[in-house]
Amino acid sequence: MSEHRYYIVTDEAGANRALDLLNDFFEDEGLPIATMEVDEAKGLWEASVYANGEPEDDLKARILAILAGPFPDAMIETEFFGETDWIAKSLEGLKPVRAGRFLVHGAHDRAAVRPHDLAIELEAGQAFGTGHHGTTAGCLEMIEKVMRAHPRGPRGVDPVLDLGTGSGVLAIAAAKLGPIWCLATDIDPIATRVASANVRHNHCTSQINCVTATGFHSTAFSRSGPFGLIIANILARPLMRMAPDIKRNLAPGGSVILSGILASQRWQVLAAFNAQGMRQVETLWRNGWVTIHLK
Ligand code: SAH
Repeated sequence: MSEHRYYIVTDEAGANRALDLLNDFFEDEGLPIATMEVDEAKGLWEASVYANGEPEDDLKARILAILAGPFPDAMIETEFFGETDWIAKSLEGLKPVRAGRFLVHGAHDRAAVRPHDLAIELEAGQAFGTGHHGTTAGCLEMIEKVMRAHPRGPRGVDPVLDLGTGSGVLAIAAAKLGPIWCLATDIDPIATRVASANVRHNHCTSQINCVTATGFHSTAFSRSGPFGLIIANILARPLMRMAPDIKRNLAPGGSVILSGILASQRWQVLAAFNAQGMRQVETLWRNGWVTIHLK
């Protein structure tokens, strides 16, 4: 999906600050912003804006202007992905990611899996969701908490909906935790294709069905729902718009896990879901993002 990125190299606090600033500006344009740790020993992090198409000096200049306050000497670097896609690249370059009992890793890091890990092996693919983003990691942690805490155990949340599945990582995580069935949807047909490949690769085909759909515009939802657990790692605004649909497709007493929400947007999102009669159970914070569990 993304062909190049603009990024600065900074420390962890700097990356979080840049993330908040860039998100405020680029969220409406739908440009993905991400931070990642690139050198643990030196404490180096990168904050990136991902973009499609030809690089634009204008976009680079806007990023520089947005960051000028806290980073007066910021050097904006550009990286092109060309034929190599960035997820594959980030999987090669980065260490496996742990979140709760999950270990998300590429094929080259199979040796890192320990006996009690719930390992998710992702094939290189053009879809968001490698576990390196704070929102994916937050969702993985929250899925484990919610499914384990259910009075009837993980199967108590069956069936599950993963809205905006990307690489399929969250649906696969839910399937690894217990005998549940999961509908995994994405607006982007490439993501759905990548998710299906990852589902096969992780031996979850009998538990997960991947479907291309915008929001709730598919008969797959009424055929498969209502859902005991709805996971949606999208962005604050679309989540707020979809609050009534999310509530409508939720089984009585069911749980919702939301992410893709900046810490500063948490109260707005909570208000939209409170208006549907839902209440916050817990919020997790990671790299400037929040993951919220509601009931
Ligand atoms: N669930 C993955 C991916 C999150 S990225 C993870 O947690 O890592 C968000 C995904 O939502 C993208 O793949 C994007 O294509 C999809 N998306 C965005 N808006 C959507 C909508 N209205 N309906 C369905 N999917 C959507």
